[in-house]
Amino acid sequence: MALCSNCDRFDIHSFSADSQKWLRRGYSLEAVKEATRKDCNFCSFLMKHCEVDLAEYKSKYRANPWFHLEMRPNETTKTSSQLLGYNYTQLYVTVGEIRMAECIRHRVFELFADPGDAASVSGDVGLRYLGDDVHSDGHFACISGWLADCLGNHPRCNRTAAGDINIDNNSRTPLPSRLIDVGPSNSTMVFLRDTQGQFGTYITLSHCWGSDPKHQIPSTLESNIEERKGGVPLSTLPKSFQDAIQITRRLGVPYIWIDSICIIQDNSEDWEREASQMARIYQFSILTIAATGAEDSRIGCFIDRKPESAWRGHFARLPYRTTTGVTDGYFYICERKISTNDEVRSLLNDSPLLKRGWVMQERILSRRIVHYTRGKMIWECQTSAPTTECQEVSLIFPGR
Ligand SMILES: [Zn+2]
Ligand SMILES: [Zn+2]
Repeated sequence: MALCSNCDRFDIHSFSADSQKWLRRGYSLEAVKEATRKDCNFCSFLMKHCEVDLAEYKSKYRANPWFHLEMRPNETTKTSSQLLGYNYTQLYVTVGEIRMAECIRHRVFELFADPGDAASVSGDVGLRYLGDDVHSDGHFACISGWLADCLGNHPRCNRTAAGDINIDNNSRTPLPSRLIDVGPSNSTMVFLRDTQGQFGTYITLSHCWGSDPKHQIPSTLESNIEERKGGVPLSTLPKSFQDAIQITRRLGVPYIWIDSICIIQDNSEDWEREASQMARIYQFSILTIAATGAEDSRIGCFIDRKPESAWRGHFARLPYRTTTGVTDGYFYICERKISTNDEVRSLLNDSPLLKRGWVMQERILSRRIVHYTRGKMIWECQTSAPTTECQEVSLIFPGR
């Protein structure tokens, strides 16, 4: 990707409030036009995305327009203990005359960096692009980061919903009557265990059973409970269960609770006793995995992403400079087509799982949830606003 000499010298630190380097914050239209002719990636991006603003400016004012660039930190992500540095998440571009006395409204772009790159490791660029593969190490590192932050820094998330019990997360929470022992990552079997009276750590699954009568969800019955204790081949479980077991293993948690397997479905006494414990089971679980995008358990947690996310496909790349001025990799500038709030609202509220009333209880009682949707992975806890794997923070609490 070609860059003009202006863009090649781009220095993200020149935008910091404590910097004396105020240069290159404005681009004249002439310079941008010239660079666009020479195919500069960022200048072409500016011309394309500010076309309407330029036309409006020209219809109102006579002076030659400039592009004014301003980097802004996202105040919400900046407070997170995980993030360091300036943590810029947005670029504001305003078309106006040189001193900004006459200008058109600003346009907002998002700043992304690849995980592991200097722009990202330094904390200077706040958003991440983890790609579409939710099995990737980057996605699991992201969940582990959320979980560690929530366990270590969110007192409210470490108490029961009523606020009366502090939950000890050092593997000492009371376990439900039965749990699925997920075993090692390469095992093809899982085991149903009696865990009544024991202490430990477990994950809960929230999923849709589905309404297709031809699809029978595997259930534990009086007739098969002993067999299940002897081992359940993973291949006999539906995809949502298999995916949730894989997530549990990769997070290093030994057990998962899944309703249809951990409650004896044809024993009314067991069912009533366990159902009455549901509130406790979800509250004491370290994390709820929600197969939010799946209509039934055959679909899974790891589902195909929508071909087009809210910002993909419209980006430019600029060099990243460290505080000492050394060029080290790149960061990206993207256009968002809809707001983070609208995207998160539609991914959650319009999802198959959250349309099911029963799930409300699981969502309210869970201290923290990772939603697997058709578009993004979304984290919710009792303290943080919904956050996507890209670290975009939505300032809405849909349904909570
Ligand atoms: Zn350029
Ligand atoms: Zn939390």
